[in-house]
Amino acid sequence: MTYSGFRLIKEALTGHKGWKAAWRDPEPQPHYDFVIVGGGGHGLATAHYLAKVYRKSSIAVLEKGWIGGGNVGRNTTIIRANYLLPGNEPFYEHSLRLWEGLEQDLNYNAMVSQRGIMNLIHTDAQRDAFRRRGNSMILHGSDAELLDREEVRREAPFLNFDHVRFPIKGALMHRRGGTVRHDAVAWGYARSADRHGVDIVQNCEVTGFRIENGKMRGVETSRGYIGAGKVGVAVAGSSSKVMSYAGMRLPIESHVLQAFVSEGLKPVLPGVITFGAGHFYVSQSDKGGLVFGGDIDGYNSYAQRGNLPVVEDVCEGGMALMPMIGRARLLRMWGGIMDMSMDGSPIIDRTPVDGLYFNGGWCYGGFKATPASGMVFAHLLANDRPHDTATAYRFDRFEKGLMIDERGAGAQPNLH
Ligand SMILES: Cc1cc2nc3c(=O)[nH]c(=O)nc-3n(C[C@H](O)[C@H](O)[C@H](O)COP(=O)(O)OP(=O)(O)OC[C@H]3O[C@@H](n4cnc5c(N)ncnc54)[C@H](O)[C@@H]3O)c2cc1C
Repeated sequence: MTYSGFRLIKEALTGHKGWKAAWRDPEPQPHYDFVIVGGGGHGLATAHYLAKVYRKSSIAVLEKGWIGGGNVGRNTTIIRANYLLPGNEPFYEHSLRLWEGLEQDLNYNAMVSQRGIMNLIHTDAQRDAFRRRGNSMILHGSDAELLDREEVRREAPFLNFDHVRFPIKGALMHRRGGTVRHDAVAWGYARSADRHGVDIVQNCEVTGFRIENGKMRGVETSRGYIGAGKVGVAVAGSSSKVMSYAGMRLPIESHVLQAFVSEGLKPVLPGVITFGAGHFYVSQSDKGGLVFGGDIDGYNSYAQRGNLPVVEDVCEGGMALMPMIGRARLLRMWGGIMDMSMDGSPIIDRTPVDGLYFNGGWCYGGFKATPASGMVFAHLLANDRPHDTATAYRFDRFEKGLMIDERGAGAQPNLH
């Protein structure tokens, strides 16, 4: 079924009886050419591009819970391509361009909204660093503008410009950044992958790999053994656990990241705003809630809930930036498990096991990467060589010291 305005009118006039399930609920087959482990944004996008762009068939996505139950449905919905390093910026710009055509590609309203993102500047040194980053963005075909204090004031007059410790001196504006409704991304990719013949199998946890003579043969699951030609793992926060089934120890730690939503307010925020003197960022959803977040919890965990010290830290950041936020009531908060890599950048690569491929280490930036991650992982699975925009995301960069340390923070996940 194709969604359209005409279809909407027809269904409205006929009692909405003609809508079909957005994707099937198939029984797993005994064997697939491609098995994608993890039905998050990245796994579903991989299946979609594998079928649609790379014309492959016999594909399954195995999800231990339900579609959208992981980080793809838990993030703060921000998309952007405002990176500095050559290993990163072309990849994220590729992703942003795919976001710009995503709804047409999927025939699904994902509420892609390029409302702009402002990284606030609080010191002269920070202005220099953001100017350098903006130049790098422009060199890689993205957009960036350096705003002075009065230009920021015109965009967001409610900010605390004269804070004694963190005065606002300007901002790096990235107008094509913005937000996308996160669960619609999962549903849109799932629906499109299904339309292209992909089996999406929910409630199917991968519990082991069958590897013979260094070659992948299939996966053990909670619904029985499934044979596979190639297996792509895209399980985000569960990366270390799942890859341990193949005997691999990853340069990744799992941490909780929390998100917060206030009660619905009238439109106040023009776009996404990030506080440059602490870790706090905020946008406003189309329902009116202020959506905000900050640092990861500082200990390793697989629990999808966080703790109070980070809540306090995030609220302090919010109060320093826009004191009026203290009057808004918090409606909900939740946590997701982050696959924090040691240099803050992802890994998309083959593994020593023939037929086993890995996609992970997204830290808290993987939502914006969803389309490009799916595209380049599908490229790798289909062609056995990396996509041009993802050649730096290899495992051996940790061995060779070729880190993609975007923040210059070293091997400290809590600083990325
Ligand atoms: C609070 C929060 C805020 C964030 N904000 C942003 C943001 O604003 N912008 C941004 O770019 N990124 C953000 N992120 C990060 C982003 O959400 C993640 O990096 C990204 O969603 C990870 O990829 P995914 O969608 O495939 O993960 P997931 O949706 O977590 O998918 C992985 C799936 O694998 C499944 N799985 C795990 N183990 C198994 C198994 N053994 N067998 C089968 N299935 C398995 C899980 O159930 C899960 O559904 C945020 C994350 C959080 C938690």
